[in-house]
Amino acid sequence: VTLLLIRGGRIVDPGSKRDGVFDIVVDEGRIARIGEKLDAGKARVFDATGLLVFPGFIDLHVHLREPGFEYKESISSGAEAAAAGGFTAVCAMANTSPVNDHRTVTRWIADRSKEVGLARVYPIGAVTKGLKGEELAEFGEMKEGGAVAVSDDGHWVADASVMRRALEYARLFDLPVASHAEDLTLSLKGSMNEGRISTRLGLSAQPAEAESTAVARDIALCALADSRLHLCHLSSGRSIELVRDAKRRGLRVTCEVTPHHLFLTDEAVAQSEFSTDTKMNPPLRTKADIEALIEGIRDGSVDAVATDHAPHHADEKAVDYESAPFGIIGLETAASLFFTKLVLPGLIPIARMAEVFSTGPARVFSLPGGTILEGAPADLTLLDPECEFTVDPRTFRSRSRNTPFAGWKLRGVPAATFVSGKEVYRRT
Ligand SMILES: [Zn+2]
Repeated sequence: VTLLLIRGGRIVDPGSKRDGVFDIVVDEGRIARIGEKLDAGKARVFDATGLLVFPGFIDLHVHLREPGFEYKESISSGAEAAAAGGFTAVCAMANTSPVNDHRTVTRWIADRSKEVGLARVYPIGAVTKGLKGEELAEFGEMKEGGAVAVSDDGHWVADASVMRRALEYARLFDLPVASHAEDLTLSLKGSMNEGRISTRLGLSAQPAEAESTAVARDIALCALADSRLHLCHLSSGRSIELVRDAKRRGLRVTCEVTPHHLFLTDEAVAQSEFSTDTKMNPPLRTKADIEALIEGIRDGSVDAVATDHAPHHADEKAVDYESAPFGIIGLETAASLFFTKLVLPGLIPIARMAEVFSTGPARVFSLPGGTILEGAPADLTLLDPECEFTVDPRTFRSRSRNTPFAGWKLRGVPAATFVSGKEVYRRT
């Protein structure tokens, strides 16, 4: 018998309307009982006194780079980084090599993640073959292989008819289409946000409208196709307004925001003296945008916090700003950043943190989890709210180190992560 008693933690679970100190008994990987001062006989005891117990965190947007780019990250190192960051599940984008645009690749990723046995990895299939924006991939077959959504992330599906057909086709399989909203004819792949800072620095730049106009088109097509649209890594206030309006109209539109867009502005590019760890797409925006993102989290316009974990080898980032690839890693800092910067100062209630890290993402991609229920797999994230630490990339489980948060002093750190009752991470 594999009985586990997680004793005395404060459960924060808006899904079951629970916020208080409870014991959890886990039997054969499932939650058997939740209650006060439970007696579980010979159970192994995990003392969670003083810890917060959340439904397992779910990241809707990561790049695990396998197959094809294992020098940046692998399913194994990525799943280990996820577990260390408190994530019990992550959704892996399709821009691998080969591209995850058919069932064989989808199934291979799903199988490989089961072999690894740490955080769950849900594959996201491509919208179009080879991410080329032309011919639709086989959504039904990829769903059979384990795909939970489809996305050409990294590329916007620029052709409106292709996107319309993708939304209609996805509806047949009840799959959300996740969109990287960026009109390339306006963004021109600019290295940073277009504004006062980019002008001063003389760097190529993209206006926030490259995102928001693409968001507006995607929402219009979502309405036309009566389908499910998920907007990735929204960075501008205008985009959030559009999502708020779409939700008000009853459209099935959801969105995510990333920690870096919440806690950094384009001033970081100058302040870091052109550190390429401030270069990502969409780029860091302005203080006004940050305020709009936070308001979106507060009022429910934002469904999820997702990291857009994008590992790159140090050599790839050690080039001039304009030549560097977009993207930073985020799995091992997301929860602590959010807790320190938004929950501790009282800007976002702790229950809302549980929603955007777990309940919301589970709902967006129709994934298991998101709440702590008897009978459900014991996917749990335990956070130590008192522990202070300084971000040190050398300690990361990820194979890459490209973070703009090195040296940040944070409070609140994942103490242990359980997937199906198995301890996949414990802070030592
Ligand atoms: Zn993207």
